[in-house]
Amino acid sequence: MSDSAPFSSECPTCKHERLLTGYAREELIELLRTGADIEAYCISCDEHWPLPTEERADLARTLARTLARKA
Ligand SMILES: [Zn+2]
Repeated sequence: MSDSAPFSSECPTCKHERLLTGYAREELIELLRTGADIEAYCISCDEHWPLPTEERADLARTLARTLARKA
């Protein structure tokens, strides 16, 4: 496994789940902490969108689980 977080978000245009790539885990944690936008990307639509609040919460939980497993 690499350092990128295995997390996906639904594309608002085509409604397909797109993996959130291009962010290191530490980067995502920092973005969540600072409240900055986390952008997902759909390769089919060439579309970026910010993660909605509930998906940010899911992501925070996923990251916490990942960290707990690694510790
Ligand atoms: Zn799409």
